Amino acid sequence: MMGLIEIENRVQDACTRANRVRESVTLIAVSKVQPLERVDEVLAQGQRFFGENRVQEAEGKWPAFQEKYGKVDLHLIGPLQTNKARAAMELFDTIQTVDREKLAVTLARLAQEIGTCPELFVQVNTGEEDQKAGVLPRETDAFLKKMADLDLPVKGLMCIPPVDEEPALHFALLAKIAERNGISALSMGMSSDFETAIALGATHIRVGSAIFGERSAPQG
Ligand SMILES: *Cc1c(COP(=O)(O)O)cnc(C)c1O
Repeated sequence: MMGLIEIENRVQDACTRANRVRESVTLIAVSKVQPLERVDEVLAQGQRFFGENRVQEAEGKWPAFQEKYGKVDLHLIGPLQTNKARAAMELFDTIQTVDREKLAVTLARLAQEIGTCPELFVQVNTGEEDQKAGVLPRETDAFLKKMADLDLPVKGLMCIPPVDEEPALHFALLAKIAERNGISALSMGMSSDFETAIALGATHIRVGSAIFGERSAPQG
């Protein structure tokens, strides 16, 4: 377990090398499957941005943590089923995984009903992997138009590069798609490649095992 302070130092160094201010990058601590006492430790160190990839798991732990520590900014970074959309909208501040029209339509309807909507990122399947969620790169511009038609503001794009490929190529592709669509936020970079992501313009990095230690369950 490297811990929050070491990762914070590496984020700062990566920002300096990229000529960026530290405030331009949000470090999201990915707490999925981690023992609660580790999450508690990181909260006690002052971290306030967290990522979870399952709605139900997040519902089980975050209300109690927020009672203890106050407001925490929660990001959903795993696939969202439409039947969990309402629960996700009520718990999360940001949904990073909008990846298909059916989900977008549901979010738009619920946003009308509830009166608010979390910040939304569109997930792009930059590696065009069958097993991965996300909009294909060549379909992303059209999907973003659909989001606009539904009155759903898109704050950013998110990607998870294939494990066996050079992540920089995928980060550069995501940045290019965002730029031509006038989108400013980029969620890219995990424990093994967040420094590369920062060099290529990441505004949100999602770091799990490098902060908390290896996850015991084989998930995500
Ligand atoms: C689990 C997960 C992460 C964190 O991965 P680490 O390699 O542990 O940093 C980041 N993004 C997504 C979408 C994840 O599911």
